[in-house]
Amino acid sequence: MQYFRDGSSYFIRIDKDEDLFKSLESFAEAEELKCGHLSGIGALKDCELGFYHLHEKTYDRKMFKDEAELLSLDGNLSIFDGKPFFHIHTVLGGPDFSCFGGHLFSAKVAVTCEVNFRPLDIEMERQPNSDIGLNLLHFCNINPDT
Ligand code: ZN
Repeated sequence: MQYFRDGSSYFIRIDKDEDLFKSLESFAEAEELKCGHLSGIGALKDCELGFYHLHEKTYDRKMFKDEAELLSLDGNLSIFDGKPFFHIHTVLGGPDFSCFGGHLFSAKVAVTCEVNFRPLDIEMERQPNSDIGLNLLHFCNINPDT
């Protein structure tokens, strides 16, 4: 992985066979980043995707071992249990040009992964929400009435 800062944003290149989440987490820790937005393209493999069933409060999980075009990577960084936590959704493309996607649990880089990261000037942390069954964003330093 290599990255550089351009003004208030970062550009990150994650290399073949690197773990996507571990790379992003080590980037966030090295730069002491707590919150932000990211987007990216490239190619991934060993992707575990999820679809959340609200009524059962569980994810269907499915592994996609093969290489896939990373058509869209979109997500955010917040703090969960005191550590950087990336919440990422993705759209992937297969060799027949069909698309599939979902909540991204894990992935490795198949070719390269090119990510833009924009830090946010607010603090967000994940807190459990029993109605939804997930850890949702809580904005720590803004007035909830605005
Ligand atoms: Zn999600």
